[in-house]
Amino acid sequence: MKQKLKMDSKQKIKVSIVRCSSYDKASVAKAIKQSLENIGFETKKYKNKKVLIKPNILGSYHPSKAITTHPEIVFSVAKIFKEADAEVDVGESFNPFGIKLSDSFKKTGIQSAAEKAGAKVVHFLSNDAKEWHNEKNEVLKKVRLPKQLNDYDLIVNLPKMKTHSLVRYTGAVKNTFGFVPGGQKPTYHVVGKNEQKFSKMILDIYQTIPNMNLNIIDGIIGLEGEGPGTAGRPKKSNLIICSENALAADIVAAEIMCFKDDEVLTNKFGKERNLVGEIETVGEKIKDVKINFKKANSSIGGIIPIIAPFFFKIVAKRPFIHQEKCKRCQACVKICPPKAMSFDKNKKKVCINKKECIMCYCCSEICPYDAITLEQSKLAKTLIKIKNRIMGE
Ligand code: SF4
Ligand code: SF4
Repeated sequence: MKQKLKMDSKQKIKVSIVRCSSYDKASVAKAIKQSLENIGFETKKYKNKKVLIKPNILGSYHPSKAITTHPEIVFSVAKIFKEADAEVDVGESFNPFGIKLSDSFKKTGIQSAAEKAGAKVVHFLSNDAKEWHNEKNEVLKKVRLPKQLNDYDLIVNLPKMKTHSLVRYTGAVKNTFGFVPGGQKPTYHVVGKNEQKFSKMILDIYQTIPNMNLNIIDGIIGLEGEGPGTAGRPKKSNLIICSENALAADIVAAEIMCFKDDEVLTNKFGKERNLVGEIETVGEKIKDVKINFKKANSSIGGIIPIIAPFFFKIVAKRPFIHQEKCKRCQACVKICPPKAMSFDKNKKKVCINKKECIMCYCCSEICPYDAITLEQSKLAKTLIKIKNRIMGE
């Protein structure tokens, strides 16, 4: 595995803070260029190299909702690397609840932004994932991530600046959770069953990803309140924060958003793991750009770690085999990672052991005959309706 940028605790790491008050093409391009100059990042080093841009594509949301990375940021960054003659992909893993990734790429505007810049859109499907081992990890010694991540010379992380109901803040380090394939996100929520454990698990995922050496946080319009999704509210903050070190970028962003020191546990534990050194800010000063983000309601935040694992397990879509379409080719049986699928010779049909199924959706993605769809139970549909009513969605 190629190594990520290693930090010495004595090494100063630059974090750029640049004001940018609109998503107008020229303003964003100028701010991104300035950010890279501030940290001394040279794109020309990536001539003829492979670069992956990883935006935050939480789901099928219009950019005006401020849930996903704005397409203008994706366009600007992709264009800068294309101009440096790099081979540029814009990629994301499958969404957790069976939302089609192609729909999310389109609705967020990221598909057309990538294509306009000459970049290729890449869907990391669940059957492209492999287990990555990292002995330094605390919660997950093995992490399922796209195997293609090793093919890139640089991963450019483009998170959104948001508050989060479970881990208070989400930015550069948390954006790596998006790489976890499809239906396995709920499984990982079950593993990281409280704020502390979930934060450590996120750090494990971050530590496992190779070559993620550029992070640009979209804080022009962030999200406050009950983020990271539709229950949050857009917050104009007019900033772009950039660093080679994801944790350094997050520490600065959290301070700007008026979080107390070490209130964000990924920042606290990341410092304890020596993943960040001394920080030097370049550009604007933190005290001049501080903006009070409304935090997620602590009572809701307190309940979420308790109910989230159950909620996710219940509402996640499950594979359903349409026997009338099935041609018994057994491609799904071969690919199923936990061997939850089998061919019943007596009944002459493919079956799923629900208890063993980890909801990775590999079977649905691989079936050449569209015989496996992802379905939600009646209970799940009812629960989602109740949740949407409470959240006003
Ligand atoms: S891959 Fe599709 S067609 Fe082949 S056995 Fe599985 S469900 Fe049937
Ligand atoms: S049946 Fe197997 S391949 Fe299909 S979702 Fe479950 S674990 Fe994944």
